[in-house]
Amino acid sequence: MPATILDGAAYAAEIRAEVTRQVAWHNAHHGPIKLVAVLVGSDAAGRIYAESQRKLSVKVGVQYELVELPDSATQAELLTVIDRLNADPGVTGIILQLPLPPHIDTAAAQYRIDPYKDVEGVNPANIGLLFYGEPIIAPCTALAVTELVRRSGVTERGANAVVIGQSRIVGKPVTMFLLERMATVTGCHIATRDLAAHTRQADILVVAVGKPRLVGADLVKPGAVVIDVGINRISERDDSGKEIRRTVGDVDFESVAAVAGAISPVPGGVGPLTVAMLLRNTVEAARKQLARRI
Ligand code: NAD
Repeated sequence: MPATILDGAAYAAEIRAEVTRQVAWHNAHHGPIKLVAVLVGSDAAGRIYAESQRKLSVKVGVQYELVELPDSATQAELLTVIDRLNADPGVTGIILQLPLPPHIDTAAAQYRIDPYKDVEGVNPANIGLLFYGEPIIAPCTALAVTELVRRSGVTERGANAVVIGQSRIVGKPVTMFLLERMATVTGCHIATRDLAAHTRQADILVVAVGKPRLVGADLVKPGAVVIDVGINRISERDDSGKEIRRTVGDVDFESVAAVAGAISPVPGGVGPLTVAMLLRNTVEAARKQLARRI
């Protein structure tokens, strides 16, 4: 039987509709919810990304402001901007657009964001609180992965879960989430000796590496739930020999869809859900800030 396709775009639309209702209620009773993104440098991709964030925010009723700093901005100047946004009661959430210029210490800047305004869940304090099972705000991509796992209908308790890729912002938080849900979790990475020996035991397989089509059908247990986090831009030749650019995941979708029970596509899986989770986190941040004030 072909795998169920976990349609991240459709789930994201459902979540945005729910967020729109929550934002309207919050705006009416407690004043506007506002996101501020900070972009350092003249990165065109960063500005395009910010523009799409603005459109989606405004669509759900969230105000959006982009603060731009020049390439030459120093660490101290960036921290001053973050401090000002932390202290401003009119600002609900702060997004720090990456990558930052090389002379800026990214981790230190992320650390500076108030954990209650850290809507991307990147502050080490929020990531650390995952160990206690109670982050103030959790990392968006990890939340998107767990949402897809939940919607696949698989029973997480007691399941064998394998997470390939153990980055601080994706792989490790996903590992912690799955542990929290009582799965038996194996974390694989670049030094894992026999990847297939692990992945072939996985009822739930999450791949967050950044290597196009790393996982083929030979690595997947029949019936497994496969979540592909990877985003890779590749060049390929079409049937007429013309070179085309396309986005693929870390999973070879066609071959794995033939053996998996459920699979998330790229594009249209984790990506759109991650943005929906950013908006959900923003409402969550507004609620928690309110509770902190009372
Ligand atoms: P990263 O580079 O920080 O970490 C990669 C991890 O993969 C490391 O733990 C490394 O040990 C492991 N790895 C590398 N090669 C491997 C191999 N051959 N076998 C097994 N493990 C290997 O990456 P990241 O920031 O976690 O991102 C991973 C992918 O997810 C990228 O393609 C990125 O673009 C994508 N991503 C997507 C979203 C989204 O919203 N959809 C968000 C964040 C990242």
